[in-house]
Amino acid sequence: MAAGPTLRIGVDLGGTKVEAVALDPDGRELLRRRVPAPRHDYAATLATIEALVAEVERDLGALPGAASVGVGTPGSRSPRDGLLRGSNSVWLNGKPIREDLEARLGRPVAIANDANCFALSEATDGAGTGAPTVFGVILGTGVGGGVVVNGRVLEGRNAIAGEWGHNPLPWAAEEERPGPSCYCGLHGCIETYLSGPGLAADHARSNGGATDAATIVAGAERGDPACLRTLERYESRLARALAHVINVVDPDVIVLGGGLSNIDRLYENVPRLWGAWVFADAVDTPLVRHRHGDSSGVRGAAWLRR
Ligand SMILES: [Zn+2]
Repeated sequence: MAAGPTLRIGVDLGGTKVEAVALDPDGRELLRRRVPAPRHDYAATLATIEALVAEVERDLGALPGAASVGVGTPGSRSPRDGLLRGSNSVWLNGKPIREDLEARLGRPVAIANDANCFALSEATDGAGTGAPTVFGVILGTGVGGGVVVNGRVLEGRNAIAGEWGHNPLPWAAEEERPGPSCYCGLHGCIETYLSGPGLAADHARSNGGATDAATIVAGAERGDPACLRTLERYESRLARALAHVINVVDPDVIVLGGGLSNIDRLYENVPRLWGAWVFADAVDTPLVRHRHGDSSGVRGAAWLRR
């Protein structure tokens, strides 16, 4: 095995905070720092990352420039022009953030979106450790996915591999068509059903009244029939969405992250359902909960390679 860097710094660039973690080669966390994210200020964002990396290296007694640096961010770097696109931190869009950071930090910088970082973190030393192919899914405010093959993020020619959240819900029933409208301009996207707000909206469509995902899950645990039915619909949709992935990628393990991954019953019920749509005589794909939780973004960024 090729020797990697002795010190890895991962930076998670969020809308409200910038977090950095330093890992040793075994994935042990040496240090973590978190600062508020400069909003609507690209130059200040670059300066914040530069200062964080310098601070981490100094506090660990490392030579400046010694650590590898990976950055996780919403959105993705367009392979066409190298500019960031699709980030909800909109002041980053259209910027050559990788090149700008490389110039400031004086070293190669790897960049990936948060779903890819999640998948890489779980594949490297999380719930997908040892599995050759890992599909990581974030079920949160949005829905994202990432594929890791043999320890590396599968980026794809268009840097979109794994992003199936804006595919239409597969095998949709009559009442699921055309489906809720999505901010992307389409209808019935997987995200409109499987995100936290999507779950809440589905419950509201069936029962009226505004509520949130956590309340629905708590209601189902108390045996509330309407909440139970909502979760059953959710499980059927998640099973169909993942059956689609199994039919294309056939990952060795599927790891769930994001707030909705805390719904215990998913891990039993969804694999019981998805066989109906996977084109194989038997399906034994493990569906597992993340190990690193909220740390997966920043840890996965640290494991990125260029
Ligand atoms: Zn969409």
